[in-house]
Amino acid sequence: MKTFCGRANPTTGAMEWLEEDEDYDYHQEIARSRYADMLHDKDRNVKYYQGIRAAVSRVKERGEKAIVLDIGTGTGLLSMMAASAGADFCYAIEVFKPMANAAVKIVEKNGFSDKIKVINKHSTEVTVGPDGDMQCRANILVTELFDTELIGEGALPTYEHAHEHLVQEGCEAVPHRATVYVQLAESKRMWSWNKLFPVRVEAEDGEKVIVSPSEMENCPGVPSVCDIQLNQMPSSDFTILSDVVVMFSVDFSKPVRSASAYYRVQLEPVKSGKAQIVLSWWDMDMDPSGKINCTMAPYWVKPTSAFQWRDHWMQCVYFLPNEEPVFQGENVYLTAYRDEYSVWYKLQKAREEENKADVRVDSPVCRCQAHLLWNRPRFGELNDQNRTRQYINSLTKVLKTDSVCLCISDGSLLPVLAHYLGAKQVFTLENSAVSCSVMGKDLWRIRSPCGSCEGFDVRTMDDMIKNSLNFRESKEAEPHPLWEYPCKSLSDPQEVLIFDFRRTVPQHCLSTEGSVNLLRKGKSHGAVLWMEYHLTADISVSTGLMQISNDKGNCEWNPHCKQAVYFFSSVIESETLTDLPSAVTYAIHFDTKTGEITMDFKLL
Ligand code: SAH
Repeated sequence: MKTFCGRANPTTGAMEWLEEDEDYDYHQEIARSRYADMLHDKDRNVKYYQGIRAAVSRVKERGEKAIVLDIGTGTGLLSMMAASAGADFCYAIEVFKPMANAAVKIVEKNGFSDKIKVINKHSTEVTVGPDGDMQCRANILVTELFDTELIGEGALPTYEHAHEHLVQEGCEAVPHRATVYVQLAESKRMWSWNKLFPVRVEAEDGEKVIVSPSEMENCPGVPSVCDIQLNQMPSSDFTILSDVVVMFSVDFSKPVRSASAYYRVQLEPVKSGKAQIVLSWWDMDMDPSGKINCTMAPYWVKPTSAFQWRDHWMQCVYFLPNEEPVFQGENVYLTAYRDEYSVWYKLQKAREEENKADVRVDSPVCRCQAHLLWNRPRFGELNDQNRTRQYINSLTKVLKTDSVCLCISDGSLLPVLAHYLGAKQVFTLENSAVSCSVMGKDLWRIRSPCGSCEGFDVRTMDDMIKNSLNFRESKEAEPHPLWEYPCKSLSDPQEVLIFDFRRTVPQHCLSTEGSVNLLRKGKSHGAVLWMEYHLTADISVSTGLMQISNDKGNCEWNPHCKQAVYFFSSVIESETLTDLPSAVTYAIHFDTKTGEITMDFKLL
């Protein structure tokens, strides 16, 4: 047996379907997938249901049979909605075998087996005809194949093929249309995720400023989407420079073209500033009238509408190739380019001749290799001046004129800092070819003096996820950037394991057990683990909490790092402090040979 598993190609950003063997461990895939998050998205579900009911009625009013094609059925949810809305028959296509199996069970359990046929294929393999997978072409096309960037999961080629081969002309589509919106912004914080800022070093012989090589400064970065919870970004961290404008839209009820295209809009800056990034999101109209709308707009766009928390659809940040000063009232032109799977942007001052040569702007491909070496949070971390200062101060304390340094870490700035702080000699061990080339080239220049610095039963699926979560004997924590998630700490931080880098690595496992007292009432969802690096006796940097939470348990998380989150298998709520649980016990094991950490937590 073979199983198809989706993978984003890290270089092109395109989704690819890989065939995996039977013994492939797809449990991780299910356990960490966003299926459950989609099903918890009430706003999405309600609007799909309304849109599907409206589409089925329109077809019925024309006196036709309602034949539904549901591409990417997942749990079978949208097909079951269609069947309960009165559809005559549904073809539910699902490429991911474990999910297709679950859909068959869920459809059966809900009593729709005679109305819904689950087909475990990629939609482009589906056949139509008397002996085919589908008896005839469908007249209602239902899908939910969208990611935060809208097209990143391959919606366009799938729709293109479906209109050519699987649905009738003039079919109804739910959603009917999707629209992509943009807003121009300046943000030092977000810009720091894509460019390396100059680093100031106070050396014995005066201040030096280390700047990245021009190759890196002019590099467009990588095409993979930068999706974040924009609503969690403090408003002081960015400045909006334009109104919200429509960039492009796709009508799913008509033939769709996936071939590369571009869209250009004129923008009038509402403020002068440095245009650095494009903030973007989309919405979808579930029916042609536009009355059933599901939007990913951030809070400042529609402050009155009820806010739906979602993790499967967030907002996008696009980095312009270079920062560009714009002036209030002086129009600029923003162009969105897209291929089948990704979108990128360019800003121009004047309307350029619309010749064809201009249209073919290639998708951003990293030329400097640094964007392959460092991901966006790592760029942000390297640009964090407070953090760098801690390292500089610590290095200054320990470095002597005869110091010989060995740095064991891919793509760290430490060897560069040690060199400029006056070490006699610096060796850096770069494990990967990419990091070796970034660090090894004649990249690091000094510039002085300083420059500038910047309703259906889907339990089958729940069980499946739970099963996948329990599948691994050893329980693991998952990495999550907690600054993007509203959360409250119920206990004070507690030291669990110490790694002493001045000693040799112990031969045996490092194990620890203990308990953490809960100080505040609330829901215990999980435990968070992070590292605190002690650089010297009195200088340390934290990859987790930046300071101890206040009485209310508000948390300030390191904005550049992901934290390890261990989810408890059930949520325990304590309304009063005398209620149980009042403590959580833990057992953590670190295998010094493999570097693996396993852990278990229990609520007392
Ligand atoms: N329709 C469900 C699940 C949506 S998730 C719901 O709304 O809750 C999208 C699903 O589509 C995934 O399970 C993925 O495996 C599947 N998929 C994506 N592209 C596909 C294609 N072209 N053919 C078949 N399945 C596809």
